[in-house]
Amino acid sequence: MDRSEASLRNRFSGLPLDRDELSRLSESALEALWPTAQVVLVDFEGQTPGDDAGPRWLHGADLGPARLADASFLGKNPDQAAWFALPTERLAPGELPAAPRIDLRRAAAHWPPFHSGVFAYAKALLLWQSRARHCGACGAATQLVRAGHCARCRNPDCALQHFPRTDAAIIVLVSDGDRALLGRQRSWPERRWSTLAGFVEPGESLEDAVRREVGEESGVTLDSVRYHSSQPWPFPGALMVGFRAVAEDPRIRVGEELEDARWFAARDLVAAIRSDAVRLPPPISISRRLIEDWLVETLGQAALAELPQD
Ligand SMILES: [Zn+2]
Repeated sequence: MDRSEASLRNRFSGLPLDRDELSRLSESALEALWPTAQVVLVDFEGQTPGDDAGPRWLHGADLGPARLADASFLGKNPDQAAWFALPTERLAPGELPAAPRIDLRRAAAHWPPFHSGVFAYAKALLLWQSRARHCGACGAATQLVRAGHCARCRNPDCALQHFPRTDAAIIVLVSDGDRALLGRQRSWPERRWSTLAGFVEPGESLEDAVRREVGEESGVTLDSVRYHSSQPWPFPGALMVGFRAVAEDPRIRVGEELEDARWFAARDLVAAIRSDAVRLPPPISISRRLIEDWLVETLGQAALAELPQD
């Protein structure tokens, strides 16, 4: 197996978990796994019990056999330990660990990759479930089947099966010689600049979406567009598909979605980051990876050592 692909470097990617689809269909297999399984708890706001030191998750045995019916099977890790996800609202107050709550962004910055990856997976699956309680075709209530991976319409005349959805979004670093195009949205923290991004629309390829979004947001037209890597981004339920593109016409006309868009020469960008005039997106994001990879390509590996650690 080729384990060299670029996405492995992106947070939440390459989770070493066997999703074991056969077990999803076998009640007896799930019952056997449950007592020793790790149960990832996620609340209505997408937070989980724990702190910077790590999660405070439970085992199936802590909750008893009846709770298996409310849980979704995530898979097995390489030690064959099983992982489930469970919304905290299904638990009685006494069953919840007495711990503070932590959100995924913070957890991803502090926890080992496996734990933040399994939290990301659980959060995305449970969020989809919370939005799939009714059939989108006939409006009847749905029932979760396949250990939480399918919502089946209860109306026998419809019986449509709904599967977890992921919203594809493109994110792109556009270059022009030794310059890169970055933008900022009004709602972002002060001095934050990032690569351009947007959701793929019906009837578009990923590359079509790259060209449209860059055009709408900055007015820049593109020559080549090539794939970089991808990242699950459960904020709330996206898959970020990263690209590198080269400008054809670099003239900027800032569109309505952005407060500003500018070309940054690589050297100037490093200087602006060092003087805190520019702040990059968080280290867990693919946008940060796109910018860092471009800096290394343009200035060499030493450029990263000049950047402040955050
Ligand atoms: Zn239906």
